[in-house]
Amino acid sequence: MAEGYRNTTQRTLILAEVQAAERHLTAGEIFERVRRRDPKIAYGTVYRSLHLLAERGLIQELTFADQASRFDKRVDRHDHVHCTACGLLLDVDVPVALIARHVAEEQSGFAVESHHTLFAGTCPACRVRGAARDGRRGES
Ligand SMILES: [Zn+2]
Ligand SMILES: [Zn+2]
Repeated sequence: MAEGYRNTTQRTLILAEVQAAERHLTAGEIFERVRRRDPKIAYGTVYRSLHLLAERGLIQELTFADQASRFDKRVDRHDHVHCTACGLLLDVDVPVALIARHVAEEQSGFAVESHHTLFAGTCPACRVRGAARDGRRGES
């Protein structure tokens, strides 16, 4: 069926963009990139496909309380640092997180299946900008 084929092709394209990305993109950013290859693709298609790909474990969706989800090509367990000033999101591997998981299981009796630690703060570039802004309001 032609329609089904198109869906699969679009999904492959979307997955390829996430995997080629140098950082964790939002659905909107992924849409912009996919659109360069398939100008007729709709935002809703990209959005739904991303959730489907995450559901199937091909990519990881990272959700934040008050910001757009980011999509991660890494599906192995890892943690993130998040800059609250510019939104930069980077991977970090924190071995102590595994101990935290054990403690969480012991305290709650849960069988913990996944865990993720988000370290929020200010990235080096924003720290420099913040220091430079003392006195005048600078733009990047
Ligand atoms: Zn920053
Ligand atoms: Zn990541």
